[in-house]
Amino acid sequence: MKQNILDLTKKELENEVKPSFRANQIYQWIYQKYANSFEDMLNLPKNLRAELAEKYTLSPISLVKEEQSKDGSKKYLFALKDNLTIETVLLPMKLEELDEEGKRVHHARYTICVSSQVGCKIGCAFCLTGKSGFVRNLGAGEIVAQVLFLKKINNIDAQRRVNIVYMGMGEPLDNLQNVVKAVGIFADIDGLSISPRRQTISTSGLSPQIVKLGKMDIGALLAISLHAIDDETRVKLMPINKAYNIKSIIDAVKTFPIDMRKRVLFEYLIIKDINDSIQSAKKLVKLLSGIKAKVNLIYFNSHVGSDFQRPSERDVTAFADFLNSHGLLCTIRQSKGLDISAACGQLKQRLKNELA
Ligand code: SAH
Ligand code: SF4
Repeated sequence: MKQNILDLTKKELENEVKPSFRANQIYQWIYQKYANSFEDMLNLPKNLRAELAEKYTLSPISLVKEEQSKDGSKKYLFALKDNLTIETVLLPMKLEELDEEGKRVHHARYTICVSSQVGCKIGCAFCLTGKSGFVRNLGAGEIVAQVLFLKKINNIDAQRRVNIVYMGMGEPLDNLQNVVKAVGIFADIDGLSISPRRQTISTSGLSPQIVKLGKMDIGALLAISLHAIDDETRVKLMPINKAYNIKSIIDAVKTFPIDMRKRVLFEYLIIKDINDSIQSAKKLVKLLSGIKAKVNLIYFNSHVGSDFQRPSERDVTAFADFLNSHGLLCTIRQSKGLDISAACGQLKQRLKNELA
């Protein structure tokens, strides 16, 4: 089988092609000129193009299904070379910014939510991906391919930088090596040029891996899927909490290097009658005191076969107001793409049901 060229860092590619400046050109063709074949890479010698085509593939994923939501977000189901499937989501956000002269300008800012594994070992009670079990890690190039593909088919300018969140299917810190490699490939200035500061790695709280990632100091941002404020509740939602409890996560986060202007993001999935009380909000404020934190509240998104329920808007708003009024920065994640089987794993599951 051909190798995936998107798996290669520029350093690795430099070792493959001579002279090494060819690696810069190849990177630019792939990531900035969106070349669809090696044949298109016109400033490379013909024999090099033929050699590359012989050895490598440029497209390790193919589109199976695309869904668009009313709010503009799009969800993609991709097939990998071994026919396993993964999901990727494009989230456009309209932004109002001030230009250099202080005038208001509107433009779209894109966030792309990538998968890092096929399935997931963590098995959270509320998550469809977790229910389907673990199949395999994605290679760095399979992670990179998701962003490249989305930029290409949505005609997003090569210069237009996007944000990346590792919040699709899988536990990124359980595939640390490939995720860290992907962060580096994304950041290459001859490539997509997405700074690590625009990349957020979300974890269910593998404390030792958080410490390890922190020590690597790659500059990526950290998000913790906290979802509960006491071990008793959390263990019911996330069995991983038996191995790594809330205290171990908070201790690990305290070792994580954070950019002066940045914060650690704590995701809190609100489930009706489980963790939506003001009492919980109070404890959350206490738990995160002393950490440069920002909380992102997420509505639980109900799916077939789930015992949990979506919280009321009133309770979520009250929860958010409590945090904000007690000095804990908090936003509510607008349930983007609710009408397109929003949360991770749901498109894949629906397609399975449709085919069954
Ligand atoms: N495994 C990592 C990476 C993201 S998991 C982690 O858990 O942090 C995918 C994201 O989808 C998580 O933020 C999770 O909280 C969210 N999610 C999973 N099931 C959901 C559901 N039913 N409703 C809303 N969000 C859900
Ligand atoms: Fe895995 Fe994240 Fe889903 Fe939990 S929420 S099962 S860690 S993908």
